[in-house]
Parts: sequence; C-alpha cells; structure tokens
Amino acid sequence: MNIVISINDLKENCTGCGACSLACPCKCITLSPDTEDFMFPTIDENKCIGCGKCIEKCHIKHDFESNKCFTPVGFCAWRQDNIRLCSSSGGIFSSIIDSLCDKNTYVFGAAFSNDWKSVVHIRCNSNHYSRLRKSKYVISQITNSLYEAKSELQKGNKVIFSGTPCQIAALYAYLGCDYKNLITIDVLCHGVPSQKMYKKHLDFISKGREVVLVDFRPKGNGWNARFNVAFSNGDVYNKDQMHDWYLYNYFQNTFLRRSCYHCKYSTSNHIADITLGDFWYIEKYKKEYANEPGVGLVICNTQKGLDCFKHLEGIHVEEVDSDYYSYIYRSRENTYNRNKRDQFFAEKKHKNTELLEKFFKAKVFAIDILVKAKRIVKKAGRKD
Ligand SMILES: Cc1cc2nc3c(=O)[nH]c(=O)nc-3n(C[C@H](O)[C@H](O)[C@H](O)COP(=O)(O)OP(=O)(O)OC[C@H]3O[C@@H](n4cnc5c(N)ncnc54)[C@H](O)[C@@H]3O)c2cc1C
Ligand code: SF4
Ligand code: SF4
Ligand code: SF4
Repeated sequence: MNIVISINDLKENCTGCGACSLACPCKCITLSPDTEDFMFPTIDENKCIGCGKCIEKCHIKHDFESNKCFTPVGFCAWRQDNIRLCSSSGGIFSSIIDSLCDKNTYVFGAAFSNDWKSVVHIRCNSNHYSRLRKSKYVISQITNSLYEAKSELQKGNKVIFSGTPCQIAALYAYLGCDYKNLITIDVLCHGVPSQKMYKKHLDFISKGREVVLVDFRPKGNGWNARFNVAFSNGDVYNKDQMHDWYLYNYFQNTFLRRSCYHCKYSTSNHIADITLGDFWYIEKYKKEYANEPGVGLVICNTQKGLDCFKHLEGIHVEEVDSDYYSYIYRSRENTYNRNKRDQFFAEKKHKNTELLEKFFKAKVFAIDILVKAKRIVKKAGRKD
C-alpha cells in the first residue's frame, strides 16, 4: 500500500485530529495549515517506512457501527441552579462533571486561550473546568489531549473526554479500545470554522482594543447564539447571527471544515457515551417551557452513559420519546451544500479580510431587509 497516497486520499474526510502523527514510529507526519487554514497531516516520504500505523489509528477507516447494541435514550433536562446561566443550554455538561469527578479524574474539553484569540483543547481537574463551559464555534486541536488522555487512562485515572463527535471518534480510534475509567461526551455538532477565520474576525471587530471576554452564548438576551465581545476600555460588541458576519456565515455553512459537509458522526449515530445539544423548538414539546433560559437535549448512547446520567443530582429531567426531538436531528441528517463554501474560498484568494467582510456583509444586510419586509407584510396582512 502506498501510505502517502492513502493519507492524501482522506483529505475530504480528515478532521485534523493528529492521531496519525502520534502513531507514526518514524515521526514523519507533521500537521500544518492548508490553503484554507485548516490543519492537515503531511508525510515526509523520505522517512516513511510504509508500516501503515497512521492509517490504522485514523478514525475515518474505523467501523464504529457494527459494535452498537444499545438503543439510545433521550431526555429533556436542565440544571436547577445558576450554573445553567453560565452554560450554552441546560448546563448538563457541568452537572456531569460535578457528579463524576473526584481528585483522580481529568476532564478534557475546549476552552478559549488566555488572550481569547484561539480555542484550545485542554486537560483540567474537577476544580478548574469552568473554562470548558459554553460552545465555542471554532475548531480545537486535540492532538495533545489524545496523548494525555491515553496516558491518564493507562495509569488508571478516570478521564472525562468532551468534544465534537469526530473528536470522540478520533479518541476511540487512537485508543484502540474502550476503558472502564473513560466517559465520553459529545455535542450535536453544526460544524467548525478554522482558528484563523475566527481570529481574523475578532481582530477585525477589535480594531486594536484589548479583548477581555468572548462569549458565543450569552444568556442576557434570551437563549441563542450571539457574537459577544467585551473590551478592556468598557466597550462591548454584541450581535446576533443576522448582524454578525462570522456567525451568519457559520450558520450558513460558508466556511466550515471540508469534513463537516458530509459528516458521518453528527447525525443520529453518535459514538460518545452521552450527547448534549440545545433542545431547540422546546415549545413544540411543551409550551410551558418556552421561556426557560436554556434547555438541554441529552441522548445516552451507551449503558455506561445512561448509568452516569441517572446519578445526576439537582437537575430537572424527563425522558423524551425520539419523535419529539427527531426534528433536531433531521436538520443535521443531510449533507450540507458546498456551493457557498466553494465561492467563499475562491473569493478569499483575492480579497483581504476587510474586503471579504464587506463582500459578505452586503448579503447579510440584504437578507436582514428581506426578513424585516416579510414581517411587515405579515403584520399588515393580519390587520386586514
Ligand atoms: C461547535 C459546536 C456546534 C454545535 N452545534 C449544535 C447544533 O447544531 N445543535 C445543537 O442542538 N447543539 C449544538 N451544539 C451543542 C450546544 O451548543 C451545547 O454545547 C450543548 O447543548 C451542551 O450545553 P451545556 O449547557 O450542557 O454545557 P456547556 O457548558 O455549554 O458545554 C460545554 C461543552 O462543549 C464543549 N465544547 C465547546 N466548544 C467546543 C469546541 N469548539 N470543540 C469541541 N468541544 C467544544 C466543551 O468541551 C464542553 O464539553 C454545538 C456545540 C459546539 C461546540
Ligand atoms: S506508514 Fe508508518 S512510517 Fe509511514 S507515515 Fe505512516 S506511520 Fe509513519
Ligand atoms: S488520523 Fe486524524 S489527522 Fe490523521 S488523516 Fe486521520 S483524521 Fe486526518
Ligand atoms: S460536523 Fe462532523 S466533522 Fe465537523 S466538527 Fe462536527 S463532528 Fe467533526
């Protein structure tokens, strides 16, 4: 087998996890940004001995489906204290950590870097995991976490590993087996943009001001996604997805990683023990929950996940028939259309950030006007 060709063939599906580079006995795989600013592995052909260990540890080639024998169970849930307000949806991630962690437990997950300009996948202990709270709509690099999680598991320490569904797939493929002392948590995943795209947008709106907070899920204006930035001089930038260029294009799938457009993990076949999501359209399930400040959809995909979830305290919880939440899955079930992405990356080659933002802002503005016009027409219709 020509290993160099095999790894290059994976480009459309590669999630940049770096497991192949950790597995290589010759240290001849390096991860570096491609022309679209996403990390990809490259093999030094002169050093490669063709052993195939890189492909063996790559999650793309793994068959996760055939071992499944558990029917997932879904819940509508939220944490009953103020931690819910510091979380994206129901705060159940924090409840799991609070309930399962002891001093020999390590929690892995995504946090903003200290200067807020990137997102890092880090290891924490039970007292210092608050940085992991809330969704960051940016890719996080898990290569170090894979290595550290494996070594903690082998020492017999408990590991709670959280991330996007493909990151959990990468962990299992890298470990090669499940561990009794491992719990995995993933999210219902829309997809991820590159670190550079996020940093460029943050720099663009900062205009030299020092950033002291970034929050994609502030709860002050209801329960939704926003691009919220606070600066050291007291200024605040706080816009919803119809008015922020980055968020708008994130939800329009303009610049996600290639693998997100035909992702096999973020549909109803999750690999993690527990999957967490926003229970969007909660009012369709129960009208009286419409004004709750964040409700979680929790899916236990394994017996281990269900056993953990059943022990959580201080949460409101009700089991939900899959008919109620299938519409949330459905929105991610199909592959995304790639046209907008192709157009964006073609334009990106010729435009700097400012021009690019202006170019796509014009579209956001036009859609905003259209939405407002539709609302006015609808209102006028009701009066008649
Ligand atoms: C990139 C992304 C896309 C998402 N898309 C959807 C969606 O389309 N529909 C939906 O219903 N829910 C989606 N979610 C999940 C949802 O936003 C909440 O994260 C989830 O409901 C858990 O909320 P919580 O209140 O229980 O805990 P929180 O405290 O909000 O959850 C924090 C958890 O998210 C993980 N996390 C945060 N950012 C990242 C990241 N960049 N990479 C990997 N892990 C991360 C942390 O490691 C931690 O495990 C998405 C989350 C992310 C990170
Ligand atoms: S085939 Fe072996 S030596 Fe070559 S890149 Fe893969 S792991 Fe490294
Ligand atoms: S192991 Fe990870 S980084 Fe390497 S080719 Fe596979 S998906 Fe890409
Ligand atoms: S959509 Fe799929 S490939 Fe993209 S980040 Fe989410 S799980 Fe990974």
